[in-house]
Amino acid sequence: KTGTKATSAADVAAGADVRLTHPEREVFPGSGLTKQDVADYYSAVAPLLLQDIAGRPLSVLRCPDGAAGTCFFQKHAGRGWGDHVRPVAVREKQGVQAYIAVDDVTGLLQLVQMNVLEFHPWGALAQDQAHADRLVFDLDPHESVGWAKVKAAARTVREVLQGVGLTSFLRTSGGKGLHVVVPLSPPVGWAQAKRFAEDLADTLAAERPESFVSVASKQQREGRIFVDWLRNARGATSVASYSLRARAGAPVAMPLEWSELARLRSSDAYTLRNALRKIRSRRRDPWRELYDLEQTLPGPAARSRRGR
Ligand code: ATP
Ligand code: MN
Ligand code: MN
Repeated sequence: KTGTKATSAADVAAGADVRLTHPEREVFPGSGLTKQDVADYYSAVAPLLLQDIAGRPLSVLRCPDGAAGTCFFQKHAGRGWGDHVRPVAVREKQGVQAYIAVDDVTGLLQLVQMNVLEFHPWGALAQDQAHADRLVFDLDPHESVGWAKVKAAARTVREVLQGVGLTSFLRTSGGKGLHVVVPLSPPVGWAQAKRFAEDLADTLAAERPESFVSVASKQQREGRIFVDWLRNARGATSVASYSLRARAGAPVAMPLEWSELARLRSSDAYTLRNALRKIRSRRRDPWRELYDLEQTLPGPAARSRRGR
């Protein structure tokens, strides 16, 4: 028994009490934060985190020796991970594989028991893997780039998206950069999603070469921000909103209002220690509009819809 609080009566019915081994083990060295603290955090943010990951194939980052030890990404479920860790069939080159999905707090805690620290969903639902229902513009600053420039870059990406009629949403990655997220409804095929994302990155790099670069090669990135459009491919992932990061200080990927960007100190400003206070003190979910926004990319999908 974890002693973690279930978030609703439904969760109790689903059996939210997951047996946690070594709850006292320190996960973030020197912080005093334990596996129990990780379980308690995920239990508390479950309704919000699940909004971002339920029904999606996931990659999870496992850290059996804590956040400073060797961590590894895993996308296929292991044996005996728990009855709420749902296998989803995904076609790969080598054939169909069972990926991981979780739809409730029990599933989250069963993954925490397996030393999962980070959750990374696809930009597609397991039931519609051929179509992207969100794009992520992952802004990756070179180490030489100052924070003000990273913030300005996020604003620019927002404006360019607005210019083509797309509303976007901001989150910290909990690392060095920022993510600008665009929900798509109806979803679009991956070829179209990737083309759009690459075109946008190329346009930014062409029009503002002092700030942006759209190629992954390291040499060209000094002083610039790589617009990592490669997140927008079938099978690619981005860290989930409200996921912890296996980095010093236990940072959290935090969705924010655009109006909060001006005062944001860093991408790792929100952590396991202050995230819940932040969430409870805000008046509303900054991404409340994301989940039922009707917007999609211009192009073949939109044309065929009009024709129906
Ligand atoms: P930062 O702001 O520091 O860049 P980030 O989460 O955006 O943090 P990236 O290295 O830019 O980190 O990676 C973007 C996303 O790509 C990650 O959130 C993760 O979902 C995915 N990713 C990166 N590296 C791997 C990997 N080795 N295996 C699986 N997925 C990965
Ligand atoms: Mn990044
Ligand atoms: Mn990246």
